Amino acid sequence: MRKKIVAGNWKMNTDYAEGIALFSEIVNIVRDEKKGDQIAIICAPYIHLNSVAKLGGETVKIGAQNCHQNESGAYTGEISAKMIKSVGCEYVIIGHSERRQYFAENDALLAEKTKIALANQLTPIFCIGETLDERNNGNFFEILKNQLVNGLFVLSAEDFSKTVIAYEPVWAIGTGLTATAEQAQEVHAFIRAEVATQYNAAVAEETSILYGGSCNPKNAAELFAQKDIDGGLIGGASLKSRDFADIVKTFNA
Ligand code: PEP
Repeated sequence: MRKKIVAGNWKMNTDYAEGIALFSEIVNIVRDEKKGDQIAIICAPYIHLNSVAKLGGETVKIGAQNCHQNESGAYTGEISAKMIKSVGCEYVIIGHSERRQYFAENDALLAEKTKIALANQLTPIFCIGETLDERNNGNFFEILKNQLVNGLFVLSAEDFSKTVIAYEPVWAIGTGLTATAEQAQEVHAFIRAEVATQYNAAVAEETSILYGGSCNPKNAAELFAQKDIDGGLIGGASLKSRDFADIVKTFNA
């Protein structure tokens, strides 16, 4: 059975004290809301990771928001997958649209990051998504396919099966515009079909595909009810403990 996941992405928000306080609140509320084998994750800023990993336990798992593509070396200011793993993180977001847009990260680089994350036993949450222009031009399936082919399908089936995909339409991130449940389901089904073609039906069936883009406690239920949507990657709403916990709760319903 594929995993049901709600992952929060705090981005560059919260100083250390604020982050620890918010994370503690989230753990306390989510502990009561999370059922069964559902996975809740918070992807926090690097400087919080060591502390929140100790607070989260089995209730809230920890992820980083990025990692460098090399194992170690003279890359001033960078953080390696090994460092992230060493403080108790289990996940890392790779290829968020903000990294693609502001840090010019392309699919070839993201493939390297994915490989180094896997080599360090981190689960990559690999983001793909189209811009508004690409959606309006009608060529967004091709754009998404290229992101998959060049960023993820370079992996063996065994390695691919350790990854999680997040579909995040760029036009829906932080804008308050959410893809409709039908739009999201259409893309998720497309992604799953591409995975089946590249690997096989069993791998596709086991792949968790999350939706991200202005997901909140009001729209989460309809999105998560879709056949091919296995959870969410949550930005803004993960900075409010009650909202994040309500999204987790929605998923249990
Ligand atoms: C994100 O940045 O991954 C995201 C989904 O943001 P938001 O929920 O704020 O749109």
